[in-house]
Amino acid sequence: MSIKKNIAILGSTGSIGTQALEVISEQPDMFQVEVLTANKNSELLIKQAIKHKPNTVVIVDDKQYSYVNSKLKNLDIKVFSGNDALSQVVEMSSVDLVLTALVGYAGLKPTINAIKSKKDIALANKEVLVVAGEMITKMAKKNNVNILPVDSEHSAIFQCLTGEYMNPIEKIILTASGGPFRGFSKDKLRKVSKKDALKHPNWEMGQKITIDSATMMNKGLEVIEAKWLFNLDAKQIEVVVHPESIIHSLVCFEDGSMKAQLGLPDMKCPIQYAFSYPKRLKNNHKRFNFSDYPTLNFEKPDTTVFECLKLSYESMVVGGNAPCVLNAANEIAVQAFLDEKINFLKIPKIVSSCLEKTNFVPNPTYNDYVSTDEEVRKLAKDFI
Ligand code: NAD
Ligand code: MG
Repeated sequence: MSIKKNIAILGSTGSIGTQALEVISEQPDMFQVEVLTANKNSELLIKQAIKHKPNTVVIVDDKQYSYVNSKLKNLDIKVFSGNDALSQVVEMSSVDLVLTALVGYAGLKPTINAIKSKKDIALANKEVLVVAGEMITKMAKKNNVNILPVDSEHSAIFQCLTGEYMNPIEKIILTASGGPFRGFSKDKLRKVSKKDALKHPNWEMGQKITIDSATMMNKGLEVIEAKWLFNLDAKQIEVVVHPESIIHSLVCFEDGSMKAQLGLPDMKCPIQYAFSYPKRLKNNHKRFNFSDYPTLNFEKPDTTVFECLKLSYESMVVGGNAPCVLNAANEIAVQAFLDEKINFLKIPKIVSSCLEKTNFVPNPTYNDYVSTDEEVRKLAKDFI
């Protein structure tokens, strides 16, 4: 008899959250939904709750609490609202695994609480490792908690490392699609619209990560995410542009041998692996076929045009609170671009100005991250 894994999904109404629910529906003997949370999308949250019958739901937006509660009152589902509830719900003893599928810095507190409660983490919310990677990885080690990557590149590396025990890594190579503006000059980038930037060639994702992919900040955040997940330094992490997004990433070992993980671009594969690890579960997802892709292409990323990638490497090498500054400035700049208040090239400009202007904290505590994040958000808004 198999015991089902009880999963809490933080950010169930988003792109990763909804795909995670598909994975759970496809594997009803393996997984069960214990908690669902959403920021504002109460309609979808209610629909999901009716279908998946979790123990608890959280609608972060307090104003929608009574509506959600009234719609779910005849079902045996607890309803809470607010940020404190979002952080606390992961502590429930019935939760086995927490999928962090919310976006940005907002995931930091709930992730910390989940680790302190000794819950394994399926981590999609990469910004948490960018902001506080050192603290989070130390905390996970101390509490004997697994951080299972959901990001496709990191899942690829993780899969390549399975069975390698203690074999040291010479380097890893993260693949990047290059986004919708691959090959563009700076002049051309200055004129791109929000609509252009939201058209990703290979992946359908939330708005923030789609803009991050267009600026290549997403790859920069992933470089920092990889540093903490796999304990690497900057020289060991390379990025190669691979427009087809078939090779999800590679590891090069000390004997020069390289392992890669391949497949169609479909986030359900890494989500399922994070849920089922170390097992692999049979599914009906569409398979990759070489004859559909007779050529795979690779090129060097142009960091003079896509400066966000360079800024990420630099802030990772500086360390301390610098990646936290990078992340907060980027969150504000991306939102301003989505609100059509700034042009595309202002995004790296705001990030680099914030990195220059913020006081450096070499060994940040949790409170330092909180105050850095707050300070940089104000500063970035001033620049806008
Ligand atoms: P999304 O915008 O589609 O969904 C975000 C979810 O988080 C929603 O459920 C929303 O209600 C909730 N949320 C947003 N802001 C919140 C806040 N302040 N407090 C509480 N909840 C909040 O985002 P997504 O594309 O699913 O991405 C989620 C995370 O996964 C991001 O960190 C992203 O970088 C990462 N990721 C996404 C993909 C992808 O294919 N979408 C791939 C790899 C990694
Ligand atoms: Mg990725």
